[in-house]
Amino acid sequence: MNNILLSKKGIIDLHSLKKYIAHGGYEALKKALSMPPENIISMVIESGLRGRGGAGFPAGMKWKFLPKEREITKYLICNADEGEPGTFKDRQIMEFDPHLLIEGMTITAYAIGACRGFIYIRGEYDWIAKVLIRALKEAEDHGFSGDYILGTDYQFCIDVFRGAGSYICGEETALLESIEGKAGRPRLKPPFPATFGLYGKPTVVQNVATLSSIPFIVNNGPDAFKTFGKPRNYGTMLFGICGHVNKPGVYEYPMGTSLKKLIYEVAGGIKGNKGLKAVIPGGLSAPILKADEIDIEMDFDSLIAAGSILGTGGIIVLDENVSIPFVAQKAAKFFAHESCGQCTPCREGTNIIKFLIDRIAAGEGSLTDIEQVLRLCRCIKGSTLCAMGDTAAFSIETMVKKFRGEFESLVK
Ligand code: SF4
Repeated sequence: MNNILLSKKGIIDLHSLKKYIAHGGYEALKKALSMPPENIISMVIESGLRGRGGAGFPAGMKWKFLPKEREITKYLICNADEGEPGTFKDRQIMEFDPHLLIEGMTITAYAIGACRGFIYIRGEYDWIAKVLIRALKEAEDHGFSGDYILGTDYQFCIDVFRGAGSYICGEETALLESIEGKAGRPRLKPPFPATFGLYGKPTVVQNVATLSSIPFIVNNGPDAFKTFGKPRNYGTMLFGICGHVNKPGVYEYPMGTSLKKLIYEVAGGIKGNKGLKAVIPGGLSAPILKADEIDIEMDFDSLIAAGSILGTGGIIVLDENVSIPFVAQKAAKFFAHESCGQCTPCREGTNIIKFLIDRIAAGEGSLTDIEQVLRLCRCIKGSTLCAMGDTAAFSIETMVKKFRGEFESLVK
């Protein structure tokens, strides 16, 4: 077995429940419902599964923070917002194997004692929302979701909630605010969602790929999961490779797979046999790597050690002809547009950075503007309410520092 998440992609039409079942679907749910919920949590902790949405927090530990009492109302939210530029991995699961996510959510809900779940999907994924709604109906009609699941007294209903196009709603507390009908802005933490989540109730928010890994762990055990990847970074990752490669796409490989291998072997190398200039390894907010820095293992810890992040595993490949100030311009525009405006350093800082980089790219900037961009990045870091301020600052700062010559060549 080579895959955990995309093992059935391309083989069958998994929109069909019948075919999903024929390929072993919902066996893990049957097994899970025969186990005490705390044993499932222990299994997931033992597997070492870390959240695939970007932060890499251990999934089982997150579940353990919830109160144990079964009578307390709890919620499970699947974060399917996937709004990070360069990221398109979760849609592969939802589009081609929706029951895998539904099964993973239902097992997780049973483990934590949640009675209600939501799939928070980005509004642009309208057709995928329809796929999910149809799959949920099928699952309910056949007793895999809803009331009295598989003849037990366990009940868990899932609703699909469409976002309205805000990047920051991918942040878990902004997402909760959005479901509650408020403006999608991050909350001050603590309290964390484990104690004060949706409607003030204990809540787990987990990414699509994370939840979809659960059936494998329950079916095969934590040790089987640990045959993929490396210590502290077990399992597989969906790497979405885009930009200047011959074969862009989503590929499932073990955590720790070499970035060089992913670009040159898996994605077929650089288009037109050009040279490589840089790679953004984990979605737009991941600090950029230079061409001579790609001999690196793609896992949470290795990328942090290299001054970047694994993030969402969305790999953006840039060939030798790409202007990094142009990339910085696009990134700065994105961050300024998506800042929710709650904190001054992020709201004002991202907008001024955008203004300065636009001026530099237009050939009207000065060396002082470059220094000013770096100074603003330093000011933003560590002084904002959510991680977006930090990631925006790190992303721009790294581009300017590593490719300073390109920025300097544009100024007067
Ligand atoms: Fe909003 Fe930016 Fe502050 Fe996050 S860091 S809360 S996005 S203003």
